[in-house]
Amino acid sequence: MIENQVVIIGAGIAGLKAASELYKRGFKSCTILEARDRIGGRLHTVTGYQNRRYDLGASWHHDTLVNGLFLEELNLPEDQRASFVFDDDSMVVFDAEKGRVDQDPEMVLEILLEELVKYSQLHFFEDLSAQDLNYFQMVVKYLYERRGLLTNDQIRFLPQVARFMELWHGIDWKSQSSKCLEIAHQGRNALVLNYDKIVRRIASEIPESWLQLSTEVKEVRNDGKNVLVTIDKGETISCKYVIVTVPQSILAHSLQPEPRVGKIEFIPPLNVNIQDAFKKTHYGALGKVVFEFDDCCWSTERSRILSLGKSSSNLSQRVREARDLSLLVEELDANTKYQFERGDSWNFPLLFVNMVKHTGIPSFVMLMANPLTKYIESMNDKGKIFEFFTPVLENLLKTLGCAEPIVKDFENKLVKSNKKAPILKNIVTTNWTRDDYALGAYSACEPGDDPMDLVLALTENQTSLVRFAGEHTIMDGAGCVYGAWQSGKREADFIADKLA
Ligand SMILES: Cc1cc2nc3c(=O)[nH]c(=O)nc-3n(C[C@H](O)[C@H](O)[C@H](O)COP(=O)(O)OP(=O)(O)OC[C@H]3O[C@@H](n4cnc5c(N)ncnc54)[C@H](O)[C@@H]3O)c2cc1C
Repeated sequence: MIENQVVIIGAGIAGLKAASELYKRGFKSCTILEARDRIGGRLHTVTGYQNRRYDLGASWHHDTLVNGLFLEELNLPEDQRASFVFDDDSMVVFDAEKGRVDQDPEMVLEILLEELVKYSQLHFFEDLSAQDLNYFQMVVKYLYERRGLLTNDQIRFLPQVARFMELWHGIDWKSQSSKCLEIAHQGRNALVLNYDKIVRRIASEIPESWLQLSTEVKEVRNDGKNVLVTIDKGETISCKYVIVTVPQSILAHSLQPEPRVGKIEFIPPLNVNIQDAFKKTHYGALGKVVFEFDDCCWSTERSRILSLGKSSSNLSQRVREARDLSLLVEELDANTKYQFERGDSWNFPLLFVNMVKHTGIPSFVMLMANPLTKYIESMNDKGKIFEFFTPVLENLLKTLGCAEPIVKDFENKLVKSNKKAPILKNIVTTNWTRDDYALGAYSACEPGDDPMDLVLALTENQTSLVRFAGEHTIMDGAGCVYGAWQSGKREADFIADKLA
C-alpha cells in the first residue's frame, strides 16, 4: 500500500492543473494516474506531412475576455507560451448548387441566423414551462411562423446555415436541445499553435515522480476517512482525497453493471443525485479531418469556410403550403435522413479552417459533428475518406478560386507538372469516438437535458473525499479547455484549504 495525500485520476488539462496547484501550495505527495501512455487527454497535437503540426483535440482558446488559461499564458514571456492567432473572420458559406451564399444582400442569412437563435431563446423566456424541442423542430417552427416574411431562398438556405451550430455542439440538429443552443461568446477565439506547448508547460510544474502513465484506475473505495484507489496492476494507493477527472463519457459507465475499459467502480456507488443527473446529460462527437496539400493554389483571404448540407429546391413551397406545424416537421424529418454513400458528404455542414491564412500551412482542418464523426472515424482507409469528401473538397477549392481537380498522391510519387493543380499528400483524422478513454468529444445537451444538474451533483458535496474535475464539472467554460483547467484549480484549492 502506497500512501499519498492526493491521487488524481487523469492527466488531461484538469488533472495536470490540479497537480500543479497542489505542488505550488506545498504538497509533497501526490500521484497522477493516467491510463494512456501520454499526457494531455483531449489535448493532442500530432504531426502530418512534412512535420506539419495539428491539434486533433481542442484548437482554440474560447472566450478570451474571461479565459483564465489564456490570461495566464498572456502573462508569460513570449517564448514560454504557445503562440496564437485571432482567426475569427466572417465565414465564406457555399452551397453545392447555388455557390456562395454568405454576405448576400438579398438573403442576409447571417442576420436571419441571429434572429433564429433569438427566436429560440424567446420561446423559452416567454413560457418558462415550455417543453424543450430539438433544434431541427425549432428551425421548422421558425420557418412556418415567419414564412410570410421570408423569401423562397431564405426558407431554402437558412436551415442549412443554422446547422453550423452542430459544429459547436458536436451533435446533429435533430439531437440538439434548443434550450441549450446559444453560445454566449465572451470575447474572441484564438487559434492555439499548438496546445502541446501548454500541456508541457503545466506538466513541467509538477515533479516527474508524481506522474504514472499507462495506469488505468479500476476502483475508488471511500471508507469515510481515506480513499483507496486500485489500479489495473492490482496495486492500491491510499490517500486523503482523490480527484477524478475522467471524461463524462467514461464516468457514465460507472453507473452501468457491465465491465469495460476505463470504467471505475466506485464503492460506495456514485450517489443518487449523480445518477439522476446523468439521465439529463449527453455527450457530443466533434471530429476533425485534416487535408494536407503540397502547396497552396487557392485564396488565402478567409480562414473559415462553411460547406452547407444539401437543401431541397421545393422546401419553400412545402413550408408555404403547410397547414399544420407538426405535420410539416414530420414530413421534413422523413425527407432528411442521413446517408453515407459517395457524395453524401453533402448531407452535412462542414467547417473548413484554411490553415494557410494564419500559419502558411497549405492544409484544411475540417470540423464535422455526429453522426458523421462516428462514420468517418470508423473508416481507416484514407482513399475511401478522400472519395467520400471529394465532391465537397473540389467545390471548396473552386469557391476559393482553384478550379483544377484534386490529385491524390499519398505515396508521394508524383512529379508535379501543373503548378496550379492541388496535390493531396495526406489525410489525418481524429479517433475520439473509438478511443476507450474519450468515447467522443465533450458534453452536449439533447432536448430536456440540464447540464447544471450534473455540475451541481458532482461538486456540491463539500464533505466528500472523492472530488470531481473536468470540462463537465463546471458551468463557466463548460466543454472547454479553460473550464477543465479552472475546475482542476478549484479542486486543488479546496483540498489545500481543507488539509492546511
Ligand atoms: C475534437 C475536439 C475539439 C475540441 N475543440 C475545443 C476547442 O477548440 N476549444 C476548447 O476550449 N475545447 C475544445 N475541446 C474540448 C477540450 O478538449 C476538453 O474540454 C478538455 O481538453 C477536457 O479536459 P479534461 O481534463 O476535462 O479531460 P481529458 O483531457 O479527457 O482528461 C481526462 C484524462 O483521464 C484519463 N482517463 C480516462 N479513464 C481513466 C481511467 N480509468 N484511469 C486513469 N485515467 C483515465 C484519460 O486518458 C484522459 O487523459 C475539443 C475537444 C475535442 C475532442
